[in-house]
Amino acid sequence: MQNTRRYARELTIADIFVFLRAIYFKLTTIFPKEMLNIILFGPPGSGKGTQAYRLKETYNLLHISTGDLLREEKAKGSPLGLEAKKYMDNGLLVPDEVVIGMIRVKLEENVGKVAGIIFDGFPRTVAQAEALDKLLEEKETHIEKVLALEVGEDELVRRLLERGKTSGRADDTNEDKIRTRLGEYHSKTALVAGHYAKSDKVRNVLGEGSIEDITKRLAAELDGDTGEEE
Ligand code: ADP
Repeated sequence: MQNTRRYARELTIADIFVFLRAIYFKLTTIFPKEMLNIILFGPPGSGKGTQAYRLKETYNLLHISTGDLLREEKAKGSPLGLEAKKYMDNGLLVPDEVVIGMIRVKLEENVGKVAGIIFDGFPRTVAQAEALDKLLEEKETHIEKVLALEVGEDELVRRLLERGKTSGRADDTNEDKIRTRLGEYHSKTALVAGHYAKSDKVRNVLGEGSIEDITKRLAAELDGDTGEEE
């Protein structure tokens, strides 16, 4: 008799535990934690790659660099890589369809599995930005902020030529190609900031100074701790 009563009481406690756990899982599916998706924006040589790596570590984000993805394809010699090479080696933007297709695959693989994404070198045209917004919307998420690194033109050219000495990147060794890339940035990519300014997502950050200081400025924007009055 006593045994049966104890068994009954234990069952009740176990039931409550199972019930509460079920509610917890249900709530986390109905209200999943929001992803933190950010775009690190700026001209070639502004330090996007370096800073993306540091922010990814701090905020536990997935880093997606279209430049890195395209270089991987190029190195593999895939049809996409061979197509992209024609543009990249001349400092021109790779066609939108190619880059958007690559991003679509990456989002398909990762949304829902990562805390957020830091986009580096993408979107680079308004068409890419519109495609990205749509793809994220389909996944019920969005871009939170666009952090735009500001660096003077002479400093950009100096940094890229310096990088060219060791990077092995054909597009970094020739000043004409660097100027072409900066031209592409001014005529096509700069407009992307205007696209996101409409929804007040752009934050300009000084991209000159020490790597450490620039990371602090970017993090302050992400944490909403820029010392400005709200
Ligand atoms: P950087 O910002 O220093 O130019 P990236 O690695 O971001 O270096 O890009 C290298 C090259 O790859 C670009 O000049 C361009 O040809 C190509 N590329 C990278 N991302 C894109 C993109 N989103 N759209 C079109 N072309 C791209």
